[in-house]
Amino acid sequence: MAEIEREAMEYDVVIVGAGPAGLSAAIRLKQLDADLNVVVLEKGSEVGAHILSGAVLDPCGLDALIPDWKEKGAPLNTPVNEDNFYMLGEAGKIRVPNFPMPPLMNNHGNYIVSMGNVCRWMAEQAEELGVEIFPGMACSELVYGDNGEVKGVVAGVFGLEADGSYGPNTEPGMELHGKYVFLSEGVRGSLSKEVIAKYDLSAGKEVQKYGVGMKEIWEIDPAKHKEGTVTHTMGWPLGSNAGGGSFIYHLENNQVYVGFVVHLNYKNPHLYPYMEFQRFKHHPMVAELLKGGKRVAYGARAITEGGYQSMPKLVAPGVALLGCSAGMVNVPRIKGNHNAMLSGKAAAEAAFDAIKAERSRDELTAYETDVRDGAIGKDLKKVRNVKPMWSKWGLMPSLALGGLDMWTNTLGFSLFGTLGHGKNDADSTEEASKHKPIDYPKPDGTLSFDRLTNVSFAMTNHEESQPCHLHLADPEIPVKVNMPKFDEPAQRYCPAGVYEIVEDEDGPRFVINFQNCVHCKTCDIKDPSQNITWTTPQGGDGPNYPNM
Ligand SMILES: Cc1cc2nc3c(=O)[nH]c(=O)nc-3n(C[C@H](O)[C@H](O)[C@H](O)COP(=O)(O)OP(=O)(O)OC[C@H]3O[C@@H](n4cnc5c(N)ncnc54)[C@H](O)[C@@H]3O)c2cc1C
Repeated sequence: MAEIEREAMEYDVVIVGAGPAGLSAAIRLKQLDADLNVVVLEKGSEVGAHILSGAVLDPCGLDALIPDWKEKGAPLNTPVNEDNFYMLGEAGKIRVPNFPMPPLMNNHGNYIVSMGNVCRWMAEQAEELGVEIFPGMACSELVYGDNGEVKGVVAGVFGLEADGSYGPNTEPGMELHGKYVFLSEGVRGSLSKEVIAKYDLSAGKEVQKYGVGMKEIWEIDPAKHKEGTVTHTMGWPLGSNAGGGSFIYHLENNQVYVGFVVHLNYKNPHLYPYMEFQRFKHHPMVAELLKGGKRVAYGARAITEGGYQSMPKLVAPGVALLGCSAGMVNVPRIKGNHNAMLSGKAAAEAAFDAIKAERSRDELTAYETDVRDGAIGKDLKKVRNVKPMWSKWGLMPSLALGGLDMWTNTLGFSLFGTLGHGKNDADSTEEASKHKPIDYPKPDGTLSFDRLTNVSFAMTNHEESQPCHLHLADPEIPVKVNMPKFDEPAQRYCPAGVYEIVEDEDGPRFVINFQNCVHCKTCDIKDPSQNITWTTPQGGDGPNYPNM
């Protein structure tokens, strides 16, 4: 193919992704020096369109970034006023009292928010400071300099032919060059994955771990709505089949976020995370809450779970990984937004100092040090053994030992050192013949919904004429390897019904309905053959979440 000619624009800092990490970096850069040229590129049709969190927000990140956020009208309207934790059985529940929980698990002082709306508000703050924000611009490639350093990104390629080639209607996009490029793509970022591999940033670290989180917004009977209430559950329906649990957050306007996370290191390839979520809503406690209400939105997103020991090196020449591009979620707290914001602030401060010293495209080592030795490292280090304990010993022992470890870590020591995670999530999948299929009840259409109906509530859209953004390294593997060995789990682990096995006259065929994709990235993580690569479709495509 002939070399593609593109216009190039020069910036001080190019930021990929308008989530809490990227927007915090942009705001901090302009707070430090109003003359810096800062651009944020976002693949969603608008800022917030692809944002999916729980979300209970620990405001420490925002406090550090914009101390007068309240006066500036930040949409943190619902303080948490009640915190419940239940162990569920199929029909019953046991309340776990709050007092044995380590203080870090307490949600008082936190807010139930729509992170989509928080990001929309942060984008306004950034624009007021002079940041250029371009939604609908997917960054599809990295641009490297002569010495292998990251120099910029390619963004805004539109109208590729269905086979991925350039045609008469293709807009080739442009190159955006920066003294530094910040990758704040969130979990399993596609450019971040490339950078981690190219510079071997995970060398000497534990493997990254993930979960898949699914979430619905419900409008419920006002009589049952208790604004400010946070409920978490574990146990049924997953039992010993997988780690994970649910969250139920009562926000404003009689709305409730109902969500379910399944850890992706489950062994049984018959497990169907989406159906576990649907089944969960039939628990009497949840069914009673939702009865008479209606589901108004649905979405899904992977979540990083590897924590402290899995964070890759954060910098390479010209580039830094921010927020969940590097995996900064505190797993037992199910919180990463505060660390995403703090990492954006730290990266901006390091870049500002470097640019002031007339440096460019080198390693921002001060950022790495700030994250590891500062508030983020401290937050993640205290809870580093919770996830490995859960993977090794299951729910009940890990609750007891994880609780003990979080307590001792709060006091400054651990009896366990730093535990490893073992296998990655793809390799954790065992052969189907070793496991029993799971019989899931049919959704009733009132409390539980079939996957495709629910996907229509993610308002996702991909132009059918564009190439499939889900690439198979070997198109034969789904039918020849994954079917016989694993009963092709893509049919089940994808929360948007993208993958199907269709029986034709000639035998089974693997079909990718990429139009349904909600950009959760689970396929890139969980495919047992590691044969699927998620790449960015053209900008503006994907889900259009309202107030997720
Ligand atoms: C189900 C679930 C529940 C959660 N609950 C909570 C909670 O209650 N509290 C909490 O604090 N945290 C929670 N988290 C974690 C939290 O969502 C993450 O820690 C946080 O989103 C990380 O922020 P980020 O800015 O790094 O990435 P994101 O918020 O993922 O933002 C990344 C942005 O970059 C864009 N992008 C990605 N790639 C490209 C590209 N190549 N080109 C252009 N744009 C791109 C995306 O569209 C997105 O807008 C939850 C996560 C999940 C999945």
